[in-house]
Amino acid sequence: MNKAEEERERATFHHFDRLAETHPELVIRTPFLYVASQDLYGQGWWKDLVRNASLRSSLGLGSVNDQYRRVDKPDLPSGWNHGLAWEAFTLNAPLYLNYIADKLKSHGVPFIRQRVSALDEAYDIPGIGPVDLVINATGLGSQTLIGVQDSKVFPARGQTVLVKAPNVKTNYGCRDQNFLPKGESMYIIPRPSEGHVILGGTFLPNVYSTLPDMETAERILKNAYKLCPALSHGQGWEKIEVVKHNVGLRPCREGGARIELEERITGEGKLLPASVKGKARKVAVVHAYGIGPAG
Ligand SMILES: Cc1cc2nc3c(=O)[nH]c(=O)nc-3n(C[C@H](O)[C@H](O)[C@H](O)COP(=O)(O)OP(=O)(O)OC[C@H]3O[C@@H](n4cnc5c(N)ncnc54)[C@H](O)[C@@H]3O)c2cc1C
Repeated sequence: MNKAEEERERATFHHFDRLAETHPELVIRTPFLYVASQDLYGQGWWKDLVRNASLRSSLGLGSVNDQYRRVDKPDLPSGWNHGLAWEAFTLNAPLYLNYIADKLKSHGVPFIRQRVSALDEAYDIPGIGPVDLVINATGLGSQTLIGVQDSKVFPARGQTVLVKAPNVKTNYGCRDQNFLPKGESMYIIPRPSEGHVILGGTFLPNVYSTLPDMETAERILKNAYKLCPALSHGQGWEKIEVVKHNVGLRPCREGGARIELEERITGEGKLLPASVKGKARKVAVVHAYGIGPAG
């Protein structure tokens, strides 16, 4: 992770800290437990962030048990020798996006859904334009969007299983490559609502298929059960209540996200749609894509 990414994650962490106080239906503070075959204590730039109780008090927030600590046997799932616990946040992404959309609408921001094949089209959308500034947050679309066509953008396929287990309240994770196939990790993320829990998952660069693979799904369920038998009250991995199988493509970019202001002239380019071709105008774009797994 580079410095810019660290800063963004830090800002996000503080934002969620406040939101967990004001909107607990969207964001909650939750305990995390990571297991490994080696001691992970002290690794990771974020260790001071998650244990920074004094920061919370400087933000005017109540104190919580946000101790970043080692976990030893017998408090670990069986088969694991080392563990690390801390508190961070979990949010329900669809609910959170609706919340942001409602805020924008309350400020009079119109919502229009339209696919564009060229960035130039976004400067004159019927009902909004003409505008001088566009924010390009098209994720993987930036690979092919005319006027952007960023060859550093690539997908990382992620497969997860959504299950129901209202009794599970802790997040679990493991990235120990001694135990996992390449491109896979284990994670269990209870959502703040509906008793739903996300089990994962894969991270396969440059794989475009969005069809769920059932062998992968079975491995995800088996691994998750080993970490947390409470997912089926100890009745075996087959008894975990599956809600659905998900596959998504994370919008990644070599070198990290592109967050950048660019000045440009519209109307230039052989392949532009006739609606915008030749209509020269000096405009600007703020690129905001390529955030990958940390959106
Ligand atoms: C399995 C999985 C698990 C994940 N887990 C986590 C997690 O635990 N925590 C986390 O922080 N993140 C997670 N992510 C990553 C997160 O989903 C992404 O980082 C985030 O969605 C990126 O947001 P974005 O708005 O940049 O891009 P997207 O969400 O990809 O949005 C881009 C939008 O642009 C639109 N678009 C593209 N091209 C065009 C065009 N030509 N015209 C009009 N519209 C266009 C698309 O339709 C889309 O709506 C996960 C992703 C996956 C797949």
